[in-house]
Amino acid sequence: MSRRRLLLGGAAGVTGAVMAAWALAADDSPVEWYKPATVSARTERRKRPLPSRTEQVNMLQAGHTYDVLIIGGGATGAGCALDATTRGLRTALVEADDFASGTSSRSTKLIHGGVRYLQKAIMQLDYDQYKMVKEALHERANMLEVAPHLTRPLPILLPVYKWWQVPYYWFGIKMYDLVAGDRNVKSSYYLSKKNTLELFPMLKSDNLCGGIVYYDGQQDDARMNLAIALTAARHGATIANHVSVTKLHKTAGKLSGARLRDEMTGKEWDIKAKCIINATGPFTDTIRKMDDDTVKEICCPSSGVHIVLPGYYSPEHMGLLDPATSDGRVIFFLPWLKGTIAGTTDLPCQVTHNPKPTEDEILFILTEVKNYLNPDVEGANLKPLYKECQTDGFLIEGAHGWTPTMYIRLVQDFGLEMEVAQHLAKSYGDRAFAVAKMAAMTGKRWPIIGKKVHPEFPYIDAEISGDGPAQMARRTNGRKVLEWQQRTVDCQKYIGPDIMTH
Ligand SMILES: Cc1cc2nc3c(=O)[nH]c(=O)nc-3n(C[C@H](O)[C@H](O)[C@H](O)COP(=O)(O)OP(=O)(O)OC[C@H]3O[C@@H](n4cnc5c(N)ncnc54)[C@H](O)[C@@H]3O)c2cc1C
Repeated sequence: MSRRRLLLGGAAGVTGAVMAAWALAADDSPVEWYKPATVSARTERRKRPLPSRTEQVNMLQAGHTYDVLIIGGGATGAGCALDATTRGLRTALVEADDFASGTSSRSTKLIHGGVRYLQKAIMQLDYDQYKMVKEALHERANMLEVAPHLTRPLPILLPVYKWWQVPYYWFGIKMYDLVAGDRNVKSSYYLSKKNTLELFPMLKSDNLCGGIVYYDGQQDDARMNLAIALTAARHGATIANHVSVTKLHKTAGKLSGARLRDEMTGKEWDIKAKCIINATGPFTDTIRKMDDDTVKEICCPSSGVHIVLPGYYSPEHMGLLDPATSDGRVIFFLPWLKGTIAGTTDLPCQVTHNPKPTEDEILFILTEVKNYLNPDVEGANLKPLYKECQTDGFLIEGAHGWTPTMYIRLVQDFGLEMEVAQHLAKSYGDRAFAVAKMAAMTGKRWPIIGKKVHPEFPYIDAEISGDGPAQMARRTNGRKVLEWQQRTVDCQKYIGPDIMTH
């Protein structure tokens, strides 16, 4: 008996020591996530040139019967289009406004498996939540692989203020790593208080016990959305922006097509489709009511507010997330385009095209921000809650010839400023050369080409002006700059002129 106890005690001791060593081993080696793209016959970029919008709209009017008509050109619609067209289905996608103009350009930009959902899966023994996290973690790895120019692994720090939370968070995060399995980005690790402050120097040190660092991905959401839509178009899908569905048609009680309107010309026509996918996000019920105006609404929209703070609120390569703020909500600080996005999780709201944050929401974030930062350092969106796939490993537009050092060729071959070259490579992948060819001369000795739209940001004239098929690939960035300029003005009254320039 005593021998068994001794053995058990010994085993527990060894396990404990191994676990402690695993927990305490801070691994700050670089993440080896980028693998040169393996372009196979299945994933190679089609020689088919990207059709212009006019050609796409003409195609929609040509009287074809589509296997699938997708309504909505956000992330969901674009993903469905790529999935359908790569299964060999005749696919059409229409977007009432611009690609990614809805929720899909206003997200927190994380590619995550959902640590919070895993917590629910464990606490409530919910197998469905577990399956969702497992699939999301698989998808996270896939996105990092197929669009390396638009994504990057991001370490996220969970600051710990009570000692008992160290094993609690550590266990939860290790489960997250474990569920990801061989698709994990990089193992999480524990940091002492000293090391936490070294990595995140702007953090308040009072009551801090240490931190746990885990990995997720970060993406340029708007460009990812557009790149997926363009990949679908490249593989045969007919996609058009500024075309909305105004009515659904039925034959013998079954959906058989829709009425479309070109929002740029006002022209209307009918289209036939064997299957219709409603990918309109917060507008889901509007489309459902076109089918049957008596249906009960199923969409529960919620809004989350983000504010953009200067870059010194977070280190350039690390985010921070606290899952339990003073009112139980999550708060995060994430580095983004030389700034820091600070925000919280969502609250219920009404559906509108251009949601605006309330003063209370902004004040909540600003008050919470103060709780985390040391004294030296002192937008609202909507979210809908609810044959073998071919898209796994399917390279996204721009990924085929992209490498992490590709931007150097842009500097050398075109005479672009290094920061601009890095931005073009990260936004357009190997299509950056095409954008650079359209850039205007600066008239200076250096940089030779690439007039900046705003002196503090690397966006250039070629991303906004011009027309033709390539414009579709460039437009979201130009739009972003113009939106920022407007939002900066909107935000001034809340956060003061010192933050204005960001
Ligand atoms: C604050 C916030 C933060 C988020 N953070 C993250 C995150 O970090 N990571 C993550 O993975 N997800 C995040 N999400 C969730 C993610 O943004 C959404 O799941 C995703 O954008 C939904 O995309 P969608 O295509 O379904 O909807 P949308 O992007 O809203 O697209 C719907 C489109 O349908 C179009 N449409 C509507 N009616 C019609 C019509 N009649 N005809 C044609 N088109 C029509 C609209 O114009 C719109 O473009 C976040 C969401 C919010 C709100």
